Amino acid sequence: MAASGALGTFRLPPLPTIREIIKLFKLQAAKQLSQNFLLDLRLTDKIVRKAGDLTNVYVYEVGPGPGGITRSILNAGVAELLVVEKDSRFLPGLQMLSDAAPGKLRIVHGDVLTFKVERAFPESLKRQWEDDPPNVHIIGNLPFNVSTPLIIKWLENVSQREGPFAYGRTQMTLTFQKEVAERLAASTGNKQRSRLSVMAQYLCHVQHVFTIPGRAFVPKPEVDVGVVHFTPLTQPKIEQPFKLVEKVVQHVFQFRRKYCHRGLGMLFPEAQRLERTGRLLQLADVDPTLRPGQLSVSHFKSLCDVYRRMCDEDPHLFAYNFREELKKNKRAGQEREADRESRSL
Ligand code: SAM
Repeated sequence: MAASGALGTFRLPPLPTIREIIKLFKLQAAKQLSQNFLLDLRLTDKIVRKAGDLTNVYVYEVGPGPGGITRSILNAGVAELLVVEKDSRFLPGLQMLSDAAPGKLRIVHGDVLTFKVERAFPESLKRQWEDDPPNVHIIGNLPFNVSTPLIIKWLENVSQREGPFAYGRTQMTLTFQKEVAERLAASTGNKQRSRLSVMAQYLCHVQHVFTIPGRAFVPKPEVDVGVVHFTPLTQPKIEQPFKLVEKVVQHVFQFRRKYCHRGLGMLFPEAQRLERTGRLLQLADVDPTLRPGQLSVSHFKSLCDVYRRMCDEDPHLFAYNFREELKKNKRAGQEREADRESRSL
């Protein structure tokens, strides 16, 4: 009974420590792959506790490595744990864990950036979006160069209710470089407020749950690590396509120390920039002299709604890219200059 996990009472039998597993299977961290391992089971237990009650939950762990967090997840009474690991050196150690937890641990040698988790768990787990989150949870301590692009991809998936969110409002507990964790959770006016804060918070309830000092990892990274918990919102705070929101938010934050009208202006071709930026700000009822970090998600909602209307009126507007216009103007200037020079010869 216990082995089925139905009562959430499963405990792993005594096993070699993670440090011994690393030695046994010669799992030196690959520096170029930013592999930093958590060996302290009290810390991995804490990460898993912060994910919430995982009894009978189907968990998807990204990048299990030598399996520290994996052990804590298995001890949390989950229904099943699916791990996706890119580096084949970790597979024998994970197999040892799988043998110790019969029928509980499924190991996939693959890449989390392409793995299709929406096909991995039973269909019956799927819930309506408005319901409570499904019995599916994502947990992971990935290298920072993977976790940031992955969260952007998953936020887009939240907006489209696909990928891991085909099951409903799947919750995630993930680690990031501490500064990125702070940005993800930063509220309006906070000095860490950034593009990531708005993109995450218009779609999810975001909580920076705790910080792990860099010295807790082996080898020790240069930075501390933040654990962040995400729960997708039943109703996104901005109801426009992800790419449109991303474009507006990106433009605002590209001049983070200037007034917000400066970045917003770059959404429009130079010839109409002044007039259209003024119209956007006026219709959205946003003070042009607010700095990017002072804009709330509801300011961004108004800006995105009005920008969307402007795009509907002018079908070329969304494709407009000020960098291309700058390049074109520069080229035209150089050609004029070359022309002048050749005439004066
Ligand atoms: N989770 C383990 C821990 O906390 O000790 C390992 C952490 S280490 C920072 C990141 C792990 O993610 C490594 O095992 C690495 O091989 C794996 N990884 C990196 N990129 C990956 C990818 N794209 N897909 C799957 N695994 C990946």
